Amino acid sequence: MSGAGLFGQAEFEAGQRVGVLTTQPLDRVLDYRAPEGGCSTGDFVEVPLGPRRVLGVVWGPGEGSFDAARLRPVHRVLDAPPMRDELRSFIARAADYTLTPLPAMLRLATRAPGLGDNPAMRHVYRLAGGEPDRMTDARARTIAAMREHGGLAFTLGELSHLAGVSTSVIKGLVKQGVIVEEEAPRDLPYPHLDPELPGRELTADQAAASESLRQGVAAGRYGTTLLKGVTGSGKTEVYLEAVAECLKKGRQALVLLPEIALTAGFLARVEDRFGARPAEWHSGVTQTERRRLWRMVGQGGAQLVVGARSALFLPFRDLGLIVVDEEHDTSYKQEDGVLYNARDMAVLRASLASAQVILASATPSLETWANAEAGKYRRLDLASRFGASELPEMRAIDMREAGLPANRWISPELQKAVRARLQAKEQALLFLNRRGYAPVTICRACGHQIACEHCDARMVEHRFLKRLVCHQCGETKPMPEACPSCGVEGKLAPVGPGVERLGEEVTELFPEARVAVLSSDLFGSARALKAQIEAIAEGAADIIIGTQLVAKGHNFPLLTLVGVIDADLGLQGSDLRAAERTFQLMRQVAGRAGRAERPGEALLQTWQPEHPVIRAILSGDEEGFWRAEAAEREAAGMPPYGRMAGIVLSSPNLQEAFDFGNELARRDAPLRAIGAQLFGPAPAPIARIRGRHRVRLLVKAAKGAALQPALARWLAQLKPPANLRLSVDIDPQSF
Ligand code: ADP
Ligand code: ZN
Repeated sequence: MSGAGLFGQAEFEAGQRVGVLTTQPLDRVLDYRAPEGGCSTGDFVEVPLGPRRVLGVVWGPGEGSFDAARLRPVHRVLDAPPMRDELRSFIARAADYTLTPLPAMLRLATRAPGLGDNPAMRHVYRLAGGEPDRMTDARARTIAAMREHGGLAFTLGELSHLAGVSTSVIKGLVKQGVIVEEEAPRDLPYPHLDPELPGRELTADQAAASESLRQGVAAGRYGTTLLKGVTGSGKTEVYLEAVAECLKKGRQALVLLPEIALTAGFLARVEDRFGARPAEWHSGVTQTERRRLWRMVGQGGAQLVVGARSALFLPFRDLGLIVVDEEHDTSYKQEDGVLYNARDMAVLRASLASAQVILASATPSLETWANAEAGKYRRLDLASRFGASELPEMRAIDMREAGLPANRWISPELQKAVRARLQAKEQALLFLNRRGYAPVTICRACGHQIACEHCDARMVEHRFLKRLVCHQCGETKPMPEACPSCGVEGKLAPVGPGVERLGEEVTELFPEARVAVLSSDLFGSARALKAQIEAIAEGAADIIIGTQLVAKGHNFPLLTLVGVIDADLGLQGSDLRAAERTFQLMRQVAGRAGRAERPGEALLQTWQPEHPVIRAILSGDEEGFWRAEAAEREAAGMPPYGRMAGIVLSSPNLQEAFDFGNELARRDAPLRAIGAQLFGPAPAPIARIRGRHRVRLLVKAAKGAALQPALARWLAQLKPPANLRLSVDIDPQSF
């Protein structure tokens, strides 16, 4: 464990023993001798490890018993702002909470390149404009890649990687003046955001909510508030006032958004409100920009950061507010590497930083709803949409009575509604949460279904890419002529619809309409997707076909009809969160309709209109739905009324994974000691990914149980075999 109690500032004189946490996959803090000139806790340092030098942070006084004089010395202290106690405590507590080794957690906080001075980053490259004397393919690619990323500054290595060209191509363009080489902008502050600029005039509801949030921020203490309001009720407008208050106090604010594609509109709104754009942090931002942001955040030269979940690990100088927008969004849960939920980590970080948290959503997660019910979070409601716009009227279409022929998915009633929109020059959205052309490809000669060789998953036909794609591992292959099982040719057939196939039906039914298919895989880059979304908002399409990408926050003023092709889709399977997810997704999608002056309508195609979840969605009785759902979870002792952890064991060898799981199950005394129950080992929900078999154990404990320490004691009893990977998922998304 990490010793979260260690924190506090300490100075070490040359030669004293210090504990250094490195980002190397070791399980503990290592002891070194403080360098000439000494060092302090939080300093970024380079230390020798075997034959190499690695990055680390001075974590505290060393704890080993080795004579300090015989320890290896810290090589040097890097020129970077030291890591504050608050961030070190956060890393330690987050590691304890998620049962992640400290070094892996530290890696999340040191993702900025060029800590200290990295010679490769002293110069950056910027697009100057103009044309080279001769335009080669490689040169064109380089220029295009720079444009795509906003013509910002790049390092040589990064640019050659982005454009897929050799560095000599770039140097050639520098010689010609098309690209300029500059000193790296290391300490360039972001433009000043002015919180004194006037905001919009708020409605009475909005003003009350914003005043309450403002007071929370002004008090300078920790607190979490659920800001609940239907899409379009002005949540963003309201929390921007809390951001303004935070900036007035001279503290920094962080806004987390679930999708990069959403940030375009959001950045513009911030600019409207505060006169300048905020700093951005996500995977689409260049390394040079990241380094700049990382340094500026530490020095206070970035007042507001808009980012993806990893922005939670930035070294803020004085963080006063974290907004988690669309807090229910599943993308806040990191499902790779370190498994953490950004919503929960935001609350943890804020509590350590004496900051406020605002969780904004139209359809909060059950966890957040329950925390508000229990009085742990405050709750503010915005009851109505801003201005004249009304919530859409929602209705079910009973598919049992639709009488559709095979391979047709749009009922006559929905067709009629779409046609009416086309005539009125309004937009219609058809929602189907399935990427690709068809989810299944079957051989009509032998019944074989094409599956991924490496995963327990079917290959999905993507006609646009002309390939079969595995949605688990990303493997693709061309569509075969003959069945891979029986060898008969010309018998492979698609089964079921994906958005691409739905697109074909729409084009047949409405040949005169302009159709846009919005699915993440159809766009080469986030920028291209953003452009498409903006074009649609301005009316460039009549019918939009989309996956859950479109459910999130986009504002399409001309959209007045939402048709859900298969409202039952998310209700299949055994996931206990299925009801919650479907409820959220359907309400979100429906919320896309009728955002401007025109009223909207949402039609849900379903085979089971009596299903309680479908009925709850239609009735709009949200509190009733949450109460029923909460009662069910409480009765079953499930989160948030009980605690759970999933342990996934993955190995190329299924037997090995099961054997290890059974060994663990036999040694469950530490779990029994806290009254926890153990289930499994059993095949994980996806039993094989990338050639690795996956076996899962589930641990269930009472709400107040000290789950993590018990898990740590339990797992420490056995060392996994070399081939086996063990990952712990606290509060798993599916159970
Ligand atoms: P939400 O975040 O709840 O979806 P937004 O804050 O995006 O809602 O508001 C929806 C739309 O209504 C936006 O276009 C916003 O600019 C506008 N709006 C909301 N409140 C006001 C207000 N008080 N004055 C002017 N426009 C507003
Ligand atoms: Zn696969």
